[in-house]
Amino acid sequence: MSRVTLPILDAVTLDAACRQMLADARAAFDRIASLPMEAVTAASVLDQWDAIAIALENIEGPIAILNNVHPDKSVRDAADEAVRTLSSFQVEVFQNEALYSRVQAVRPATPAEAQFRKDLVEAFEDTGVTLPPDRRARAKAIADALTALAQEFARNLRDNKTRLSFTPDEMLGLPETYLARQPRDADGRYLLSFDYPDFNPFMANAESEEGRRRYYVGYLNRGTARNLEILDEAVTLRRELAGLYDLPSFAHFVLRRRMAGTPEAVERFLDEVKSACQQAERRDLDELRALKARRAGVAPDDVVVQRWDVPFLSERLREERYNVDQESLRKYFPPMPTLSWLLDVSGALYGLRFDPVAVPVWHEEVRYYDVHDAETGAFVGGIYFDLYPREGKFPHAAAWPVRGVSRKVGRTPISVLVTNFDRRGLTHDEVETLFHEFGHILHGVLSETTYSYHAGTSVQRDFVEAPSQIFEEWTRRLESLERLRDVSPDTPAIDAGLVARLDAARRFGQGLFYARQWLYASFDLALSGASPEAAMSVWERMESASLLGHVQNTAFPGTFGHIVSGYAAGYYSYMWAEVLALDMLSVFGDNVMNPVPGRRFRREVLSRGGEEPAVTLVERFLGRPVRAEAFFKEIVGASR
Ligand SMILES: [Zn+2]
Repeated sequence: MSRVTLPILDAVTLDAACRQMLADARAAFDRIASLPMEAVTAASVLDQWDAIAIALENIEGPIAILNNVHPDKSVRDAADEAVRTLSSFQVEVFQNEALYSRVQAVRPATPAEAQFRKDLVEAFEDTGVTLPPDRRARAKAIADALTALAQEFARNLRDNKTRLSFTPDEMLGLPETYLARQPRDADGRYLLSFDYPDFNPFMANAESEEGRRRYYVGYLNRGTARNLEILDEAVTLRRELAGLYDLPSFAHFVLRRRMAGTPEAVERFLDEVKSACQQAERRDLDELRALKARRAGVAPDDVVVQRWDVPFLSERLREERYNVDQESLRKYFPPMPTLSWLLDVSGALYGLRFDPVAVPVWHEEVRYYDVHDAETGAFVGGIYFDLYPREGKFPHAAAWPVRGVSRKVGRTPISVLVTNFDRRGLTHDEVETLFHEFGHILHGVLSETTYSYHAGTSVQRDFVEAPSQIFEEWTRRLESLERLRDVSPDTPAIDAGLVARLDAARRFGQGLFYARQWLYASFDLALSGASPEAAMSVWERMESASLLGHVQNTAFPGTFGHIVSGYAAGYYSYMWAEVLALDMLSVFGDNVMNPVPGRRFRREVLSRGGEEPAVTLVERFLGRPVRAEAFFKEIVGASR
């Protein structure tokens, strides 16, 4: 098998390709729908289905990524429209009774066929094929409306060009290299955007409390007032959707297909998280309060720690106590050497070779690598890296599995990694993000499933983060970090002392972090409940009950992209998956570079994609049932 690259479509070719592909797919689905029942077999239905899905993905994959990264707005907008058309088409397919009956009639002969049939049947049911015609039509209208709302929400964030201005005094505490790259107005004020390379260092380092307050409030309103309306509309529509199925809430609708199974199971889990992190949160906050008081020369009772103080004070505390500060860590992690190191670590662990190749790309800074199996030399797949920020680009870090594997037809996978890194180098937090996202990339590229439908990250949503979360640990261990010098002799050495300090520094603040994660997950679940109220009033009430309270005139829900897209009734998944990730990590013991469990993880988890239920994969890798101890230790900041 050999390399396949992504077509770099422009607005016109994108539109034409989408139309042609839809016409072809429609005809092909019609052929399945009109099969005589006696001609229904796994080959005539499931294999054909996957072939159509592959043809769709050949266009849909590139569209999804160009939608988020193409430098030309007209392409991003054309992609928006194509995404709506395609998701509407998907609803049409999964509401087709003739197709449904063909899929139902398949008698699977292999586990992969059985899982594929089951997944399709559920997708049909969740799209409304079994509903009476009026409800079915309404389910389609709701699905279409939700897609459009999610796009508008994302666009409002992505295309927000606001820059807030800060006086040179307010920039005190920020490194010279940060200041040098910021645009300034005629009065010499710095103009800062809502991109995280601008926002995060400012919040962690700007001495000016008023500057931090202003940036914080602005940042939490960056979704614009419209996004609050969008969220409310989405919540109402989802509640209505659950009602069409006579289910009591949207959470019931979603969770019956997840590992968790029911809203009650998620609530129980969140209750455990809350009681585990309550004390740790208070302890962390007391420490920050003491530090703030000491810096101001007053008693701790005389200061209040505000939300805009938390990153700043945490950073000072880590600096003082552990001699770790994120800005000064950038010198260890210049972007390209860090990327080479990431590939070196992944290669050694999973038995892979990565070769840079010049291929057509959507922006000159994008890099592409072929992935080969180191032992057999076989071509495995391809990876694109789009590392640096630019206008109109997706503003966070994410992995796009644009092309899924299918062993049945010899299809090789492609994934795209998008980040917005600082060219000066990465903080350790950003290195963790890079490894996290690359965990998703490897999940996509190393999968070897029979059907593309099960490729890579096509797993249950409350499992999908686990292979990424586990990989974060490779940024925290000496045995992986010391390999950095092998690929990048010019960067300063990382020794056991620094690794220990990084670990201690990371463990401070876990109480605050998980309390926040608990709040996000509980808020999401509240909006997915039986009778959800307006998002903003739910949020105000819930955040007000937290130790740090609610900040007037902030509107976090308008920026909470997760729950407008695929993570509705699913934000708990991050912590749920972390239970699995930390448990699986224990198999590596004290040497995360040990290729034996590495190869086994590749074979038993990554390569399996969604071909088997997640719990089966995890417990096979563990050789025992899942245990949550490692996760709950992590929450309270205990060493592992
Ligand atoms: Zn992730």
